[in-house]
Amino acid sequence: ATPVGLLAGTGRASQLGILIRGPEVLEDTRTVDTIVLDKTGTVTAGDLAVTAVTPLNGHDADQVLRLAGAVESHSEHPIAAAITTAARDAAASSEASDYSDSADFSGSTVPEVTGFESAAGGGVRGTVAFPRNHRDDSGVAVAIGRQSPQQLPTQTLGEPGPADFRTHTVAAGRSSYIATQLSSGSLTADEQQQLADAEAAGATAIWVSVDGQVAGIISLQDTIKESSAPAIAEFKRLGLRPILLTGDNAEVAAQVAAAVGISAQDVFAGVRPEDKVAKVIELQEAGRVVAMVGDGVNDAPALAQADLGIAMGSGTDVAREAADITVMGSSLGQVVQSVQLSRKTLGIIK
Ligand code: ADP
Ligand code: MG
Repeated sequence: ATPVGLLAGTGRASQLGILIRGPEVLEDTRTVDTIVLDKTGTVTAGDLAVTAVTPLNGHDADQVLRLAGAVESHSEHPIAAAITTAARDAAASSEASDYSDSADFSGSTVPEVTGFESAAGGGVRGTVAFPRNHRDDSGVAVAIGRQSPQQLPTQTLGEPGPADFRTHTVAAGRSSYIATQLSSGSLTADEQQQLADAEAAGATAIWVSVDGQVAGIISLQDTIKESSAPAIAEFKRLGLRPILLTGDNAEVAAQVAAAVGISAQDVFAGVRPEDKVAKVIELQEAGRVVAMVGDGVNDAPALAQADLGIAMGSGTDVAREAADITVMGSSLGQVVQSVQLSRKTLGIIK
């Protein structure tokens, strides 16, 4: 039978917006000595914004952004949401301007994507199809292709046939993923340097390739949640060692860690989803009792492996399903409360 104290603790937890899989979870929480934190969406808001687009190899910045945005509109990653929003904004603002027929998009139309694929912790790819549009002398967009503009009323362009579309295979993601999408199989020394420059600026740098060639870099920046630094200070006071685990680059990870009070030796960057699990196992094998806090699909295996898996309520369903505890808000403060609650509850029933 479940001790009455534990049941009371579970009830108190739900009042605090902390959902617990079962009363026994509170007992596991008490013994935890290490807290592994995912970065994006857990320590940071995951509310990224595109800060720069660097076109490469003769590509156009707007075009790079829109092609990436078309593919990213099918992904639920915070990076994807930011790129999609920026691409829509770019499309909307260029609608009024003189957009030449060499441009890949017309107006704010979101092009169709086929063969969408997502590699967790790597990036996304797909084939983008867009109408062959151009503006005639009066500035009205008309379709060209199998039908001549004269045959078409300007408003109704009719059912487009295959010849009315051009397609490009577009990929967006981390450099190691993009390398696998390139005809050459690797980034050039010059491209590596561009990446180093973007990352040195503390940005998350996403590569875009078009038809097997590097087309540019999209730089994004996130904001650290105000609640993160106080919560991390509290974890330390409670005797928990905080560790930052992220798929993002080392420069961004180091900046975030420094800002929230996680020591440099406890930062692990560029970690792929399968390696997040490996890191948790490594800590467990070293005798640590590990809590893992995450929000993403990529965190789910590590949440399941940890002695205590904690999902942010603002995160994905997959993460919540893998976790023992889900905190309803988006603050690490509630994770602190979970630890305090379990200690109090078990203090009472002992
Ligand atoms: P985190 O651990 O910070 O939550 P992820 O493991 O989800 O990060 O992703 C790691 C890296 O993989 C990202 O920094 C990015 O470079 C790349 N990536 C993942 N998903 C996408 C996507 N939808 N679009 C572009 N890049 C992506
Ligand atoms: Mg995350």
